[in-house]
Amino acid sequence: MIVKESLTLADLQNWKKSRPPIRLGVFGQAVAHSLSPQMHNAALEKAGLAMRYARFAIAPEELKPALELLVPRDFAGMNLTVPHKVAALGFVDEVDDAAAEIGAINTIKCEDGKLRGFNTDGSGFARAIREEFAVDLRDLRVLLLGAGGAARAIAWQCAKENCERLVVANRDGGKAAALVEELRPFFAGPRVLGPVARLQTIGLDEAALRFQIANSDLVVNATPLGRNRNDPLPVPARLLEPHLMIYDIVYSSGPTAFVSGAVEAGARAANGQSMLLHQGALAFEIWFDRPAPVEAMRKALLG
Ligand code: NAP
Repeated sequence: MIVKESLTLADLQNWKKSRPPIRLGVFGQAVAHSLSPQMHNAALEKAGLAMRYARFAIAPEELKPALELLVPRDFAGMNLTVPHKVAALGFVDEVDDAAAEIGAINTIKCEDGKLRGFNTDGSGFARAIREEFAVDLRDLRVLLLGAGGAARAIAWQCAKENCERLVVANRDGGKAAALVEELRPFFAGPRVLGPVARLQTIGLDEAALRFQIANSDLVVNATPLGRNRNDPLPVPARLLEPHLMIYDIVYSSGPTAFVSGAVEAGARAANGQSMLLHQGALAFEIWFDRPAPVEAMRKALLG
């Protein structure tokens, strides 16, 4: 089979064997620019595994039939990206506990004829923060922008690692409030923090953001703002302060506009490439029950 930029459901239905065989991939609606194939193919090569990883452009209504073909086509697993992470939960045979809490899966392992769902975004994020800033979430006051799929994974990770405080700032206040209520049991214990709450939601208005930034160590952008060149910054540059660490989960080969703004303000900042790397490395570990060749994956990502 000639491997096109992106394969389709029709390709899966009329499957033609290739060498090495395609046994992994990513399902998403707009995957043409996904960096996952270059990262995972480098890992497979380094690990001496004779298989390939491909992109699949799959529309929402195609997700169920596409997933049903993974076992018959002898796939080892699959990654899921926008907009399939939540819907896929309903189409797998088993979901691990952490992914069920988050309410989304980004990794499927095909095992014993079954599809098992996992979510590596939260743990990939924690590894990225440790690598970028040499700190653990446990020690941090976190201001999280967004309450969508990725933000939910990050918020659950912060809660489980017992971060000092967590503030969820979102456009849709109801979504942020629902997330915070799920996490409340993790923040019941007292901490010496002064007058600020350990767990709360805010809107995206400047006064609320300014107050929370003064009481935060790490600001995380988990909105898509920054993917398009004309997007505004998720937080106005004038609010950024030198004491902050800024992590923008949006990734690009160079610094994102948010990262540049943060660096100009004297803060430490990084974009989401390290999270992409580590969520991918964790997926590799799930698929193959062995450590991922992280440095080969990093090199492939950085180009
Ligand atoms: P999602 O489920 O659609 O959630 C998007 C969130 O961003 C929602 O909370 C939404 O707010 C908010 N938002 C969207 N547009 C906004 C705007 N114009 N102004 C303010 N807030 C806005 O998406 P997701 O799956 O969480 O992904 C978010 C981003 O993270 C994407 O760019 C994705 O590529 C990236 N990501 C990166 C990695 C990585 O490894 N680096 C991993 C996962 C995701 P409302 O709730 O108000 O709609």
